[in-house]
Formats: sequence, structure tokens, C-alpha cells
Amino acid sequence: MKIICIGRNYAEHAKEMKSIIPTEPIFFMKPDVALLKDADFYYPNFTSDLHFECEIVVKIDKAGKNIEEKFASKYYSEITLGIDFTARDIQTQCKEKGLPWEKAKAFDNSAPISSKWIKLTEIDFPTTEFVFSQNGEIRQIGKTSDMLFSIDKLIAYVSKFVTLKTGDLIYTGTPAGVGPVAIGDLLTATLNGENMFEFKVK
Ligand code: MG
Repeated sequence: MKIICIGRNYAEHAKEMKSIIPTEPIFFMKPDVALLKDADFYYPNFTSDLHFECEIVVKIDKAGKNIEEKFASKYYSEITLGIDFTARDIQTQCKEKGLPWEKAKAFDNSAPISSKWIKLTEIDFPTTEFVFSQNGEIRQIGKTSDMLFSIDKLIAYVSKFVTLKTGDLIYTGTPAGVGPVAIGDLLTATLNGENMFEFKVK
């Protein structure tokens, strides 16, 4: 399986990163070894500015290429929450040199994910809200209504370039409020008020 991550899918986050609001989706990938489920996260020694980015994650249910936006909803049925951990110091260096971001984004365990999946038939997705907290303090509030590109648009766009397969994950971008984590932090998130994950940074 592969993990596709969307960049700048919320206007307020693009602004806080001093980035241009995109006119088409931006994506990059993480390898399967980036996934972290039900385990503690160990702060990597190659960064001193690791940031959280809490995101809605979509699971692909069936394979497809060149999926039309109007059919995209047939390719997924469940969502969850995850963190797109980013070594911001390394990402900044990569950006300055015009280099790819993988070192900053695709390292082992850089994609913690909840083990709980929410069926889209059980929620009202357009009014869905998620809240990410660090040591009990709210850091990010994401509203699906603020996404620049819908899940259907993302699937249509990405599948033009990359065949999607069953089990692939799409991290759909983070809202404003990203910030650094520290050893000892407890990172938690809720989706429509339901507890989704609890990760300890060691
Ligand atoms: Mg992200």
C-alpha cells in the first residue's frame, strides 16, 4: 500500500506557511513504513523542529486509474484521523534548495494513524469537524467545509498520475495551527467529538 499526502488543502494553513493557495492539489507520498498504529512515537534524532499536522485520512476501497470526479465516491467509504509528522527544519532546507521533501516527511513512523475507522454513512461529512490537542490544549480545529479540494476532487486528480489500489491511504491536508512537538507530549484528536487517537511522544 501507499500513503498519498495532500499539501495546502486548507487556505488558512497555506497562509500560515507563507505559501501560495494552490489552484490544483499538491501531493507527495510516504512509504508503508511511515505508518504508526497503537504505539508510542519516538522523536527522531535528525530533527530539532518536528511539527504535528493532524489530517483526515481516507482509505481507498477499490483500485482505479483516471477516476472521474463524479464516480470518485464509489472508491472510498471510511475515514479516520492521522498525523502527517513533518521535520520542519529539514523541510525548510529542502524548499530553499528546491529539493524533494521526503527526508522531512517520509521517515519511519511519520504517519501515525487511528485504528478506528468511521463509515461515511454514519456521519454528515460536510459538517464534520476534528479537533487536535497537545497535552489537553486545542491546537487545530479542522472543518471539512474548509477543504480547498474535496475528497472526490483529490481522488480524481491523484489517480490521473498514480493508480490507486485497495488499502491505499490519502492524508487530505492539515488546517491551520501546526506547531512543534516535544518529548513527553500527549497528542490526541477527536472527530465529531469522538476520541480517535492518543499518541505519546517519547
Ligand atoms: Mg500535511
